Amino acid sequence: MKINDFREHAHRLVDWMADYLEHIEQYPVKSKSKPGELLAQLPGKAPQKGEPFEAIFKDFQEKILPGITHWQHPSFFAYFPANASPPSVLAEMLMATLGVQGMVWETSPAATELEERVMQWLRDACGLPSHWHGVIQDTASTASLCAILSARERATGFQSNESGLYEQPRLRIYASEQTHSSIEKDVKIAGLGKSNLVYIPTDERYALRPDCLRQAIEEDLQRGYRPMMVVANIGTTGSTAIDPLADIAAIARQYDLWLHVDAAYAGTACLLPEHRYMIDGIEQADSYVFNPHKWMLTNFDCSAYYVSDKETLLRTFSILPEYLKTGLEGQVNNYRDWGIALGRRFRALKLWFVLRSYGIEGLQQILRRHIALARWFKICIEGHPEFELMAPVPLNLVCFRYHPQGVNDVEMLNKLNESLLQRLNAGGKLYMSHTKLQGQYVLRFVCGQTYVQEQHVQQAWQLIEAESRRISKLLSLL
Ligand code: PLP
Repeated sequence: MKINDFREHAHRLVDWMADYLEHIEQYPVKSKSKPGELLAQLPGKAPQKGEPFEAIFKDFQEKILPGITHWQHPSFFAYFPANASPPSVLAEMLMATLGVQGMVWETSPAATELEERVMQWLRDACGLPSHWHGVIQDTASTASLCAILSARERATGFQSNESGLYEQPRLRIYASEQTHSSIEKDVKIAGLGKSNLVYIPTDERYALRPDCLRQAIEEDLQRGYRPMMVVANIGTTGSTAIDPLADIAAIARQYDLWLHVDAAYAGTACLLPEHRYMIDGIEQADSYVFNPHKWMLTNFDCSAYYVSDKETLLRTFSILPEYLKTGLEGQVNNYRDWGIALGRRFRALKLWFVLRSYGIEGLQQILRRHIALARWFKICIEGHPEFELMAPVPLNLVCFRYHPQGVNDVEMLNKLNESLLQRLNAGGKLYMSHTKLQGQYVLRFVCGQTYVQEQHVQQAWQLIEAESRRISKLLSLL
């Protein structure tokens, strides 16, 4: 593609992007595509000859778009959001154009130094300890893997990197039974064995029980195992439950455990001073992750990983083959040594654009709006005789279920709610997801999309109520 053609197409695409965002509500939130539908439309072989941009863009609109679920739709209430925002998209365009690969300082000094600065801004804006060092990872899964590997090295005196785990005692990791599945995946990747991830029971708020943690550690010590790490959740995936960090930290200190804090979603709320109670005790943590790519308007991927001891991280990951030597080692940060991948995107740019465009106050305003919307929705649930709240709502995720009077069988309620969710999502006007809490099927409603406003939440509530009435009618006919 010639540069002049690129210019013309890029202008057109930017117009398309602005139109898309302006009229996004005309799309069904959740794609209606059937399995294999797109595959059947794509040729089995790559084209031998280049095709005109027109043809590619036409296919994008006609074939690809129908298979897209619109995460930036204001009625996207599913999972946790993966928010983009105009400044973040603009930065992503620049990043792609520069095509920077920031593996070492020298391969783009600005990429490294901007990352240092924005990670420090973010740390301070969230009230995290001022001596912490931050690095951008692709995802929380990767950040937690870094934490587990660092903890493994510290616990084995850096011997597991040298000679593997063959001569080590069984290293044990503790996390609440509500912990995100990425921790189990990371434990497996780290070669620790998933049977060494000990799930700790939770209380009625779905938060880890410190008494059970202590008991599990004591039992492991008696068996001759080596307790190595505890993961505390600030905002579980199921219900944004908040583990009692200060109590967990005291236990971690007593037994010399690495304390990793997974605040992948809820960490963004620490921009709000009134929500920092969630991280009381954070100064005792060894590592912490939260994802600006979820709630902080910075498009995927961008995960903020902080450590209290930079040296352990570097000792775990440093490599220095001849071809990567620059002579500046020790004087600058080479972020390839701060994580798993060698190659690194220039993600700091989009964080910088977002932080500067909105300012901390602008972000706070949006977060407070989201939390207020969730509170409104929660009140609707609480005030309706046929709906019930299924977990506390510390932030902007409301877990609830439809519970018609006279139906008390758990399996029946599970089926009813599954069917309610399917019917609502098939309608295309909103998108929610579900989880199970104590074996009960629960609908998850997250008010966190960048563009969500009061009318979207009100419309969602009307749709949910109307659909539940239809189900009630069907039930009465049985
Ligand atoms: N931790 C928690 C609490 C999450 O909710 C999620 C994803 O939703 C993750 C970790 C994994 O995030 P990522 O997709 O960035 O790996």
